[in-house]
Amino acid sequence: MKDWHFTTRMLHLDRKGASTKGDSDSKYLATHAPIHTSVAFGYDDSADLAATFQGKQAGYLYSRQGNPTVTALQHRLTQMEKGKGSLIFATGMAAIGSTMLALCSRGDHIVSSRFLFGNTVSLFGSLAKYGLKQSFVDATDCSQIEAALTADTRLVFVETIANPRTQIADLQAIGELCRRRSLLYVVDNTMTSPWLFQPASVSAGLIVNSLTKYIAGHSVALGGAVTDTGCFDWQHFSGIDPALRKGDPALWGLNQIRKKGLRDFGGSISAQHAHDIAIGSETLALRMQAACHNASMLAQMLADHPAVRKVYYPGLASHPQHDRAKALFRQPGALLSFELQEKIDLHAFLNQLQVVIRSTNLGDNRTLAIPVAKTIYYEMGPERRAEMGIDEGLIRVSVGIEDASDLLDDFNNALSQAS
Ligand SMILES: *Cc1c(COP(=O)(O)O)cnc(C)c1O
Repeated sequence: MKDWHFTTRMLHLDRKGASTKGDSDSKYLATHAPIHTSVAFGYDDSADLAATFQGKQAGYLYSRQGNPTVTALQHRLTQMEKGKGSLIFATGMAAIGSTMLALCSRGDHIVSSRFLFGNTVSLFGSLAKYGLKQSFVDATDCSQIEAALTADTRLVFVETIANPRTQIADLQAIGELCRRRSLLYVVDNTMTSPWLFQPASVSAGLIVNSLTKYIAGHSVALGGAVTDTGCFDWQHFSGIDPALRKGDPALWGLNQIRKKGLRDFGGSISAQHAHDIAIGSETLALRMQAACHNASMLAQMLADHPAVRKVYYPGLASHPQHDRAKALFRQPGALLSFELQEKIDLHAFLNQLQVVIRSTNLGDNRTLAIPVAKTIYYEMGPERRAEMGIDEGLIRVSVGIEDASDLLDDFNNALSQAS
C-alpha cells in the first residue's frame, strides 16, 4: 500500500489489514472492518486483564476508551493525514473540547484566530472561566500571532479556511513560528479536509477534523478526530502530567488526550457511527472534486450577478488570500459566502431556493444555505460579528455535489424572483 494514492488507500486499507491489524475478518475475506458493538471485552486469564489495564499488553477493555471498529477509523484518519496516530470522538466539538481540557491548565495562555467556528468561540469562552487566558488575533497575518505570544503561551489554534468569510490563516508562517518557539500548533482542518490540505505539511503538531462534515459527507453520523503528526516534540510541553511522562515522548500527547480527554469526559463515538464515517470517507476525494468544482462555478456566477454585492470564495482572484489558497490547497474549498444588494430581502431570496436546503450544517453532499448573522452567529451579538467581518446580510453556502447546472439555475431563479 506504500505508494498507493488517496482513494486507493481509502478503499483497500481495511482489506489489507492496515486499519485493523489483521482483524478484518480475514477468514471471511471481508472488504470492510467489522462493526464491534460490544461495550465490554472479557479475558480468560485474569493476569491478561491486569496486563491490559496496565498498558503492558495491547487489548480492549471498555468501549469508552477503545473499540476495534473505532481503532479502524483511527488508522484511517492517520493514513489520510499522514500522521503518527489519531483519536476519534463522538463529535468535532468533543475532539476540540477534550483536547483543550486534557492539555491546558489554569494560567496557561493560547493564541487563536479571531475567525473561528462559532461553537469553538463559545467553548474557548467557557474555558476562560476556568482560567485559560487567550488572545484572538487576525491569523491571516502571522506577525499578529507572534505579537500575542507570552511566556505562558502553550499553543496556537487556527482553522484552515475560516467559516463563514473564508479567510485563510498564514498557515505556513505560523508553522515556522511555532517550530522556532517550540509551541504546539493545532490546526482545525475541517473546512479543507485531508484531501485538499494536510496540515503536517506546515508543521502542525495536532490536527482536528470534524468527521461529520466532508469526511463522512452523508450527514448520517457525527464524529471528530485528533491526529498527532509527529511534528511536535512533547518533551517541550509543560502540560504533560508527570505520571504520563514515561515511555516514548512521541506518544505523550495523544496518550494524555486519550486518558484525560476521551476516557474521562467520555465523548466516545459508537461503533456504528465509526463504520458509517469510514464508508463515507471512501469517496472523499471524488466528492471534494465535485463540490469544489460546483463552488467555483457558483462563486463566479454570483460575482457576475448584479443582485449580488460581494462574494467571498478563495478561488476568486479578488479574494485577499487567493494566492495562498492556490499555493497551499489542492482546490479552493467548497464553502462560499455572499452579500445581496441591500434592496433584496434576505429571507425572501432564501425561500425561493428549491434545490438548496436552508440548513445549518456544512460539508453535506447536498447544498445548504444559511443567513449567518440571524442564526449560527446570532448569539455572539453585533459587535463580535463586526469584529469577525460578518455582515448582517451574509449568506453562507456549503456547496454540495449536485449537478452544477441545477445549482446555478436554482440560484439564478431565486435571484431574479427576489430582485
Ligand atoms: C462543524 C465544525 C466543528 C465541530 O464539529 P461537530 O462534528 O459538528 O461537533 C469544528 N470545527 C469546524 C471548522 C467545523 O466546521
